[in-house]
Amino acid sequence: MNSIMTKIFNITEGQAKYPTVVSLKRQKGSRFTGECGDINIEVIKNKKLAGVFIHEIGHYNHHACSKNYFKMGKLSELEDDGITDLSIYNQFMNDRASLKLIKKYICPYATSSPAEFIACTFEKIVNGKKLPAEIYNFYCKYEGPFADIFMKKGLFQ
Ligand SMILES: [Zn+2]
Repeated sequence: MNSIMTKIFNITEGQAKYPTVVSLKRQKGSRFTGECGDINIEVIKNKKLAGVFIHEIGHYNHHACSKNYFKMGKLSELEDDGITDLSIYNQFMNDRASLKLIKKYICPYATSSPAEFIACTFEKIVNGKKLPAEIYNFYCKYEGPFADIFMKKGLFQ
């Protein structure tokens, strides 16, 4: 756990924010999902859980720095939250070329919404993956956290 926190601290130059609690839930099989809630963080020992934790910290910081965060969820989340302005969501979903790149360099799940794209990309970066400039442009477009720091560190090329 400490090593994850150290990684996030170093890569964001100490600027990452943290929720007081993050909860991770086991889904079917070995899949985990997380959200801000109730958790014993010490439980995070394996790689998969660590990834979900980093992913949730990505959401939290995206939320903290993006004024449009609430418009970037999945369609079901936007509907649940009564968000009727789907412009950002639709722009993301209609950009087929970028979705293809996201699928290739990040993961298929990252194409499910702008918010998931940002959180998955944050997770990749914290885990040491270098990403192409096209992904950086997209990361900036959807107000991803610490984009300037990541660029300065050469994590996008
Ligand atoms: Zn997520």
